[in-house]
Amino acid sequence: MPGRLAKKASHTPTLSAASHELDPYLPDSGNLGYRVSRYDLDIEYRVDSNRLAGTATVTATAYQPLRKFSLDLADSLRVQRVSVNGRRVRYAHRSGKLAVTPTDAIPAGGALTVEVRYGGNPRPVRSRWGTVGWEELENGALCANQPNGAPSWFPCDDHPEAKAPFRIRITTDSPYFALANGRLISTRRRAAMTERVYEQVEPMATYLASIQIGQYEHRVLAEGGDVPVHALLPAALGEAFDAGFGRQVEMVEAFTEMFGPYPFPAYTAVVTEDPLDIPLEAQGFSTFGVNHCDGTLDHERLVAHELAHQWFGNSVTAARWRDIWLHEGFACYAEWLWSQHSGGRSADECARHYYAKLVAEPGPTTLADPGPDEMFSDWVYKRGAITLHALRLRLGDGDFFALIRRWTEKYAYRCVTTEDFVALASTFTREPLGDIWQDWLHTVDLPAFPTMR
Ligand SMILES: [Zn+2]
Repeated sequence: MPGRLAKKASHTPTLSAASHELDPYLPDSGNLGYRVSRYDLDIEYRVDSNRLAGTATVTATAYQPLRKFSLDLADSLRVQRVSVNGRRVRYAHRSGKLAVTPTDAIPAGGALTVEVRYGGNPRPVRSRWGTVGWEELENGALCANQPNGAPSWFPCDDHPEAKAPFRIRITTDSPYFALANGRLISTRRRAAMTERVYEQVEPMATYLASIQIGQYEHRVLAEGGDVPVHALLPAALGEAFDAGFGRQVEMVEAFTEMFGPYPFPAYTAVVTEDPLDIPLEAQGFSTFGVNHCDGTLDHERLVAHELAHQWFGNSVTAARWRDIWLHEGFACYAEWLWSQHSGGRSADECARHYYAKLVAEPGPTTLADPGPDEMFSDWVYKRGAITLHALRLRLGDGDFFALIRRWTEKYAYRCVTTEDFVALASTFTREPLGDIWQDWLHTVDLPAFPTMR
C-alpha cells in the first residue's frame, strides 16, 4: 500500500497516483520516482510483417530528485532514440527496463517529457500467467496485457495505480480497422495506410490500453442515447453474433440501473476471427474469440462479465493486484445478476451452484491476499462473487445496490483497496459486518453458505 501521498493523488482523476512501492505480486513491473500524467503513442503497424514502429511521449512529474529513472519496455523491441525535455539522452535497455539518464538531474516536482522512438516485431511477454501483450492473429493483431503485457508494445510505468489519460495514433494497412481506447477523433487515409487517432480522456491503467486490428464489419447496436454500443466482427459471422451478443444494449441499461452510470463515452464488443482461450477487457471495449460467438446463449455470461469490468476494474481499479477480487468477484457477480435479470437462474441459485463447486475445490489461500499464482484462479472469481452475495443478504437489496452505486461514483476513475470497500460498506448499515470480512476475505476455509439475517 503506497503512502498517504499516493492516496491523496488518486483523488485527482486526471493524474495517476505516485507509486512509492512496487507491487509485491509483480515486483519487476512499475518504476519509482515519477508520476505519469499522460501517454501519447504514435504507432505504425504493418500486418503482413508484424512490424511496429512507434514514438511514445510520456509526460510525468518527478516526486523526488532523479538522476536516472526507468520505464518498462520488452526486450523484443529496439530503442532508437530517447530524449528528455527535448534533449537526446543516454539510455540502456535490458531485462525489460529502459533506464534513462537525463543530461541534468530532474529536481523533485520537475516536469519530464520523455520521448522514446522504438520499433521491431512485437511479441507477447512470457509471464507466470502465460504469454501476455501484443499478439499477432491470423489476419490482424490484438493486445491482451493483463497483468504485465503492456511493455510488449509501448514504454510505460506498468503499474495499475499509475493511471493516466492516453492519446493513441495508430496507422495500419488500409483494409484493416484499428480500434484503440477512447473516442475516435480523426481518420486520415494516406497512400495504402490509414491513420486513426483515439483520445482516451478518462485515466487508464496500462494493462487496459489496447489496440485491436482486423478486417472487421462494424455494427452499431445503439447510437445516441446514453451509451453508444458498437460491435466489430468478422463479416462471415453473421447471425451467430445476434444470439449471444444480441442483448448488450439491454445489458448496459440493466447494469447502469444496478451499478450507476456507464463510466466511458461508448462500449464496443470485438469478436476476432481467431479463437481465444478467454475474452478480455480493455478500457471502453472487450475482445472475444470467434469460439465465444457460436450462435448460442452459452457465452452470454462472458459478455456480461466483460461489460461489468468497465465499472469494476476499468473505472474503479484495484491499486494492488492482491485486491483482484474487487474486479473479478464483482464481474462474476454481475454475471449472476444478469442471469436473474434476463429470466435465467437467480443470483442466489448461481451462488449456491458455485458454492457447491467451491466446497469440492476450495482455494489454498485467502481472498484478501490470494498470492500471484492464484490471483486469476476461478475460485477467486466465485468466492469473490459469493462474498458480495453474503453482503447483499445482510444489507438487503436497497442498501446493497446503493452501496455499489456509491462505490462506482465515489471512486470513478480512481484506484482502490479492499479497505476502501470495507470502510464504505460500513456506512450503509448499523450492523457490524466484521464477521463477513473475516470469514470470506481473511480465512482460508470456506464459510457456511450465507443466509438472510
Ligand atoms: Zn474478469
